[in-house]
Amino acid sequence: MKIPFVDLKTQYRSIQAEVDAAIRDVVENTAFIEGPRLEAFEKDFAAFCRASHCAGVGSGTDALYLALKAMGVGPGDEVITVSHTYIATAEAISFASATPVFVDIESDTMLMDARRIEAAITSRTKAILPVHLYGQLADMDTVLDIAKKRGLLVLEDCAQAHAAELGGRRSPIGPVAAFSFYPGKNLGAYGDAGGVVTHDPAIHRYVTEIRNHGREKKAKYEHARLGFGFRMDTLQAAILRAKLPHLEDWTEKRRAHARHYSERLKGVVELPVERPGRRHVFHIYPVRTDQSSALRAHLESSGVSTNCHYPIPVHLQPAYASLGIKRGALPITETCTERLLSLPMYPDLTPDQVDYVCDRVLAFFGRKG
Ligand SMILES: *Cc1c(COP(=O)(O)O)cnc(C)c1O
Repeated sequence: MKIPFVDLKTQYRSIQAEVDAAIRDVVENTAFIEGPRLEAFEKDFAAFCRASHCAGVGSGTDALYLALKAMGVGPGDEVITVSHTYIATAEAISFASATPVFVDIESDTMLMDARRIEAAITSRTKAILPVHLYGQLADMDTVLDIAKKRGLLVLEDCAQAHAAELGGRRSPIGPVAAFSFYPGKNLGAYGDAGGVVTHDPAIHRYVTEIRNHGREKKAKYEHARLGFGFRMDTLQAAILRAKLPHLEDWTEKRRAHARHYSERLKGVVELPVERPGRRHVFHIYPVRTDQSSALRAHLESSGVSTNCHYPIPVHLQPAYASLGIKRGALPITETCTERLLSLPMYPDLTPDQVDYVCDRVLAFFGRKG
């Protein structure tokens, strides 16, 4: 059996009529930039997040960057985040001319360890940027308590956590969250796209102006301030709007596959942990084992594609050598990285496919199902 890591083609087949109609509508109206179709998606996605505003932008990286700029993060500022993430989290901080400061993660959830934040605060700290990695919300109550007490701003990296919940609340649990709609994300476009979702009208206004060359609504060649080109394509907005009504169903399917994996692989590999009161949306299903690379090769030879999220922590990337952070600085981050393996995860997996992956994992460890 051949099982890809992600299968976007099967998903497209299941919603082809709706997506094709949405694409045709944009093309036939030659409405490629901004317009009511973009606004309709922004309205729908804001409602989905139970927030007041969503601004569509070019990518999740753009969303992180623009949200930081909107919050006033700039030269000399430090932003506390994690090294166990996709590099874009830290890059957005660096491109906003600020410095990322990394705290270690919780060993079970692999999310920001909020108990480590206070020790990382300096006179330059401006904001905290937790990452809701793999699809589970970080400990936002502690993050927001510390932020309030210490006068810091909070931005959530929600690139992997559409529809995730904590105590029944969705992101942004704080004032603002950055989403990615990269094709493989839980809600994916057919190209690059992202969104800044916020409860704060001032942040929304800043992002909608800056993404479009500092233009205020309607005045075409009048530029109130300097902006840039960070717009979301209307074609992507239309595709995302056609897909959004399916996201709840897709999320439940991911959760069912995760339960299935966890039932069969319990005691064989270290499983992802879902904390009580949280709704994990399993963008990724990461297991941990000391034999991750041998297991990966074994699965590959059985037709099962796997991945590793992420093999090199951000603080050890050559691109961040200038920060001068040595190996050993973030021990939990560094050891979990070496032991990770992400198993195939997407809504259209069948129970047979999950069973096949589990059979192959059990066979590798010489166990019977
Ligand atoms: C995907 C991702 C991003 C970047 O999103 P793009 O749309 O690819 O720019 C940022 N942070 C995390 C955690 C991600 O997974």
